[in-house]
Amino acid sequence: MPDDIPFNKTFPLAPETVQQVTPLVRRVLCDNPGPFTFTGSVSYIVGRGEVAIVDPGPEDERHANALLEAVRGETVTHIFVTNTHRDHSPGVPRIKAATGAVVCAEGPHRPARPLHIGEHRVLDSAGDLDFRPDRRLADGEVVAGDGWSIEAVATPGHTANHMAYALREEKALFAGDHVMAWATSVIAPPDGAMSDYMASLDKLMRRGETLYFPGHGPEIPDAPLFVKAYIAHRKGREESILHRLGKGEADIPTLVRAIYIGIDPRLTGAAGLSVLAHLEDLVARRIVATQGAPSIDGLYRLAV
Ligand SMILES: [Zn+2]
Repeated sequence: MPDDIPFNKTFPLAPETVQQVTPLVRRVLCDNPGPFTFTGSVSYIVGRGEVAIVDPGPEDERHANALLEAVRGETVTHIFVTNTHRDHSPGVPRIKAATGAVVCAEGPHRPARPLHIGEHRVLDSAGDLDFRPDRRLADGEVVAGDGWSIEAVATPGHTANHMAYALREEKALFAGDHVMAWATSVIAPPDGAMSDYMASLDKLMRRGETLYFPGHGPEIPDAPLFVKAYIAHRKGREESILHRLGKGEADIPTLVRAIYIGIDPRLTGAAGLSVLAHLEDLVARRIVATQGAPSIDGLYRLAV
């Protein structure tokens, strides 16, 4: 693949230290680095005095303590959760117990579609099935705090319940795992759905935020340009799949080998799921055909 997205992997933030990024935003990095989390999950603190926390992160006592230390002498009124993968929401109960904050999110974890027989989750960033928000937010709903107001922006795709949060005072967006500066987002069925994901990218393109704060890695300063490159990248990947299928029927491992050159071996499982996500979308659009429902071990061909 050409390096078509202007990735930024420079993120010198040390774990469990507080960094002020803009007048209203501070961030704290959890020490949970990995192939899917980059240097770790980033939690954000919004406001001064009466604050909100976006994504408390995984179940991690040190991280929870660092967050609580960062807001010592302040009141945490709200907790916002972008998605319910295990690197984002399991830290909620500790923060809620210590602060009494209201937990806001789109809803509990759920797959993007019904599970096929025998289908199981392959990714290690599996869902936090215990998560329940106190307050379910609808797309466009605004939660106002002391000196800040946050608009819920429903962005399904990475997970069915993924929500980004627009900080109106700073024209900034907490983008969760939907758009990240360091890598593309993993779209892995059954949690993720490519058609939803692409529609959510288009939705962000129509919005006015120029600065994104992702769930992992550094901020994105030219967000609309970056999102445009993200969309072009996915369309390029779709074209690669169609190009390979133009040479004949193929299974997912064959497509992964044809498309992902030099991939980190730890990511081949995720790459296979990402190709499956594209194929589900292509089959729904009747561009690609397969036997029965699209599955990880199916055979795929162009639908003529
Ligand atoms: Zn994540």
